[in-house]
Amino acid sequence: MAAFKHQGTCVIHGGHHRAEPGSLATPLYQSATFVFPDCERGGARFAGEESGPIYTRLGNPTTDEFERRMALLEGAEDAVAFGSGMGAVSGALLSQLSAGDHLVAAIGLYGCTHAFITEQLPRFGVESDSVDFADLDALEAAIRPNTKVLYLETPVNPHLAVYDLDAIVTLARRKGLVTIVDNTFMTPLLQQPLRHGVDIVLHSATKYLNGHGDVIAGVVCGSAEQMAPVRMAIRKDFGAVLSPHDAWLILRGLKTLALRMERHSDNAMAVAHFLEAQPQVARVHYPGLPSHPGHRLLGRQMRAAGGVLALELHGGFDTAVRFVNQLRLFSIAVSLGDAESLVQHPASMTHSPYTPEDRAAAGISDSMVRLAVGLEHIEDILADLKQALAACAEAGETAPLAGEEQQ
Ligand SMILES: *Cc1c(COP(=O)(O)O)cnc(C)c1O
Repeated sequence: MAAFKHQGTCVIHGGHHRAEPGSLATPLYQSATFVFPDCERGGARFAGEESGPIYTRLGNPTTDEFERRMALLEGAEDAVAFGSGMGAVSGALLSQLSAGDHLVAAIGLYGCTHAFITEQLPRFGVESDSVDFADLDALEAAIRPNTKVLYLETPVNPHLAVYDLDAIVTLARRKGLVTIVDNTFMTPLLQQPLRHGVDIVLHSATKYLNGHGDVIAGVVCGSAEQMAPVRMAIRKDFGAVLSPHDAWLILRGLKTLALRMERHSDNAMAVAHFLEAQPQVARVHYPGLPSHPGHRLLGRQMRAAGGVLALELHGGFDTAVRFVNQLRLFSIAVSLGDAESLVQHPASMTHSPYTPEDRAAAGISDSMVRLAVGLEHIEDILADLKQALAACAEAGETAPLAGEEQQ
């Protein structure tokens, strides 16, 4: 596949084959099945002797272009699209794990990924442990003779802890383990895990890759050898297929990914600096801030810190709820990567599948609020945050009270 020197070009042209009659945009093949010219050539396609589409669950020319573009952007040999990020998460894990295997997962993973690992995989005889991947000794201690996979996100939602991919890959290689990284929060524009030696990288394409809040999708990227069973066993037989129309929308969204990631990161950086200076804010979690432990990997592993940050208010659960309800420009919604700024409350929303003990272990306090900073003008974003904090202060809700426990 032709690679482009710059990813900002690849997001627009990567993997595009201009079909007759020369349409500029990728044609949308909204077709469930494909007609073979004759019986022999139909047989040849089934035998893999001739390339060409058979049936959209196995492959589709529009979806193929999305897969080629993602493989180029991640520096992978191949990519397989899924009907959701969870299809990609479960597909990548199921392709690597069998009954009797064990995996080590990072703490604080996306709620449904955590549920898949702790509630679904045990039903198929796969066990797991959750550890803090920043503690390499704890990670090594969790590895058993039957451990096959290390699974992580970095930065990990919602406190944005950043894990050192080089150090984790070194350990994984020494132990003969497969590393899988969920790169949803960064996109290949800000971080390319395969370049650090990670084996498989996956995304919820619902978020930044599509970027317009109108599609649910996922994608898994890796070597041709690893992607073959993901495509022709896992996706084919479990069936979490991406619709060609959704692939077409993502291809359209991808064209502005480079511009969008820059704006998301700039806006989030300004929001982080603003919030850090507010007396009602106890803590801001954003790797772009020098105060964040992940800051040291900025530049080496991440090109910018992305659009998501979390803050903790002085107070508890009710304070966070009041603050969220005061915001006007920010919509209360559990996603990220959209043009619109979004806000959510992890303890009652994304991380509610966790037990309170697991939440505490993952450092998710009741007063934590997550912001997915959008593409609006920064002055409007800051004005909204300012008015919400002011309204809370007027109500006397967020000022730390004497003797009140800071959570
Ligand atoms: C949203 C998300 C997922 C799940 O993706 P869906 O497209 O909603 O299925 C997985 N991982 C991360 C980090 C996410 O943010």
